[in-house]
Amino acid sequence: MTVWPHGRRCALTLTFDFDAETNWLSRDPANAKRPGTLSQGTYGARVGVPAVLSLLREEELTGTFFIPGWVVENRTGRCEEILKDGHEVGHHGYLHKWVDPDRPEEELAEMEAGLDALRSKLGVVPAGYRSPAGETSPNLIRLLTEKGFLYDSSLMDSVEPYYHCLSGDRRGLVELPWHWSLDDAPFLLFAISSPRPIFTNEHILSIWKAEFEAIREMGGLINLVMHPQAIGRPSRIQMLRRFIEFTRGFGDVWYATCSDVARHWSSQNDFDPQDAAINPFIRV
Ligand code: ZN
Repeated sequence: MTVWPHGRRCALTLTFDFDAETNWLSRDPANAKRPGTLSQGTYGARVGVPAVLSLLREEELTGTFFIPGWVVENRTGRCEEILKDGHEVGHHGYLHKWVDPDRPEEELAEMEAGLDALRSKLGVVPAGYRSPAGETSPNLIRLLTEKGFLYDSSLMDSVEPYYHCLSGDRRGLVELPWHWSLDDAPFLLFAISSPRPIFTNEHILSIWKAEFEAIREMGGLINLVMHPQAIGRPSRIQMLRRFIEFTRGFGDVWYATCSDVARHWSSQNDFDPQDAAINPFIRV
């Protein structure tokens, strides 16, 4: 079990994937001619991010925002507001392209373009990376380690941080796992091309609260993944406020940014290449 700072029972990271229009553009290039579809992403930039920032200010909490390079270049002002409020900004690709493991040159190009945008527009050298839609590859995990990233947050194979293991039993970067059940997108993101139900706040809260309580008992990491275009809807922001209040009731939660968690965890844990839990599909 992880030992968290100040004797806290578990860690909670509030993370926001600020995709704006990129998740729609990358899903189908034809969406570039569909302002209706794209406007869902525009809402995230126009209304969602300010609503999230306002809530975090009220709650005096610091979040982690993963932002594609295209958004950094086209929504620079919003990204600056995020930084001004003291939040962490991480890498989230360039155009939110899903990783294709058979095209490592595209992985590299997307990685470099995202890094360039963060550095040139915001002066940010990101400590962390989250892959678009949770799709990653062994090559990308190796690339992130070689580029000096502290952590990745793309995989779903634990409720605690862990080290990746590269070929030759080399230590890789820290993984901060997540899961779809602690993500707003499956409950709230709707596309006319692939319609799915939109869930009530009570439904989402019941899943998030139950996952929180169970992971807290295990002493793990609750890595909440949200999208300003989804959680930024008026009643959904109220739902997030209710969820934060619920977690505060336990009095033993460490609210932290992803880099705080990765830094703390790696200071407490040694790398063991013999760890039976190591993911064999990542070892390259
Ligand atoms: Zn995303």
